[in-house]
Amino acid sequence: MHAPTPLPTLALVIPVFNEHAVLPELFRRLAALFDTHHDLTWRAILVDDGSRDDSAALVLAQSVRDPRFELVELSRNFGFQAALSAGLTHAHHTGADAVVTMDADLQDPPEVIPALVAAWRTGAEVVRATRRTRAETGLRRLAFDLFHQTFGRLSDIPIDSNSGTFGLIGRDALAAFEQLPERHRFFPGLRAWIGFTTADVPYDRQERAAGQPQQTFRRLVRYALDGVFSFSRLPLRVLTYAGIFVACLGFAAGIFFVLWRILGNETSQQGFTSLAALITFIGGVQLIGIGVLGEYLGRVYEEVKQRPHYLVKPAARRHAPR
Ligand code: UDP
Ligand code: MG
Repeated sequence: MHAPTPLPTLALVIPVFNEHAVLPELFRRLAALFDTHHDLTWRAILVDDGSRDDSAALVLAQSVRDPRFELVELSRNFGFQAALSAGLTHAHHTGADAVVTMDADLQDPPEVIPALVAAWRTGAEVVRATRRTRAETGLRRLAFDLFHQTFGRLSDIPIDSNSGTFGLIGRDALAAFEQLPERHRFFPGLRAWIGFTTADVPYDRQERAAGQPQQTFRRLVRYALDGVFSFSRLPLRVLTYAGIFVACLGFAAGIFFVLWRILGNETSQQGFTSLAALITFIGGVQLIGIGVLGEYLGRVYEEVKQRPHYLVKPAARRHAPR
């Protein structure tokens, strides 16, 4: 008798931060999916990113009820990207054949996962779920669009504007990911950077099932800046060009004023306004330049410190009394 070939293991990596309101619904939808697809060994790795509500306890209780669910608990709130990295590393070390990355709030509907798996089975190593429609409206929507447009122009590698975190990566892509040592992580960017055969699966992005968005607008701006500065040196190049331009102008003006004097013209005492305007303008440009340099320097500093980008609470000692 042949031993049955083991089913491929699919791990879902889901960062969770204060998601008390959506977790029961998430567990229900995922369990329903797992129960109806028997061609895979399912695992859901929920990474609690230092939630201040009882999210971690809810996940732990679910993992006791249903061992297909697992809790990875970070020691504090490290942010979405770090939580995602923690989950990916855990999946890598526990031997997942493929990993699906998704949000906890059901904006990425679990029902799309079989289509991602189908694309993976036909040979794609990276599968991006691309939004046919978006749920964001108003200012948030405008900000997203603006970011993706500028980012598309700035980035040294093209990044698809219709896909976010939601998607699947196979074992090889995951291994490639684990080799990336950097701390400032922008998942969609790195996923584009690693290459591999890539497929797109369109889906309709949903509204949040419950609760409030946990990513504040400030965080999203920081995240966007991370994306730009980690994937582009264009801001530095723009500075160089601006510097050359201003220097040429200054040089030309210098020659002009010297010739003006040599040819016997008097310098007038007027011109305070233009002088003041010039000084403040050049000063402003220089400050912006220093700011941009600082953005890069700060990132270099972060990387050089070699601090881990997250810390995991050891599971064994999670709730044990001393
Ligand atoms: N999240 C996280 N850490 C944070 C903030 C958010 O792990 O510090 C998780 C959150 O629980 C959710 C996902 O990241 O699963 C996306 O967050 P959210 O829905 O608030 O952001 P948006 O959909 O607006 O991008
Ligand atoms: Mg969301």
